[in-house]
Amino acid sequence: MLSQISAQDACLSCGACCAFFRVSFYWAEGEPMPQDWVEPLTPVYSCMKGTNQAQPRCIALQGEIGKSVSCSMYQHRSSSCKEVHAGDEQCEKARAAHKLIPLIDVEIIHPSNDEDFEQVV
Ligand code: SF4
Ligand code: SF4
Repeated sequence: MLSQISAQDACLSCGACCAFFRVSFYWAEGEPMPQDWVEPLTPVYSCMKGTNQAQPRCIALQGEIGKSVSCSMYQHRSSSCKEVHAGDEQCEKARAAHKLIPLIDVEIIHPSNDEDFEQVV
């Protein structure tokens, strides 16, 4: 079964990618973030606390996955967070791992020729 939720609204009722990947980024991106939410990973990379573990969940994620969520540092989220888009491959992987139905973009097709169809009156 496929979801028909619009991609724009999907994230607010999902949050799966914030609890699936290790969210790492160049250390300087972590400067404006709450410092106890950032963990050093390598000399030049850091990650969001909670994401470098077997069952990841970013410390900044609020709410219940698959129901209602928000990012408590949305304005300062890393480039890695911004790279995942609703409906893309990473998104679908994360959603599947959380047993959430896949997203699809529903494209409305306007037929250019409907002469073959007769209207029943
Ligand atoms: S997994 Fe997809 S739908 Fe869910 S929050 Fe991430 S980008 Fe949005
Ligand atoms: S910082 Fe925000 S957007 Fe990025 S993984 Fe954490 S909760 Fe998700």
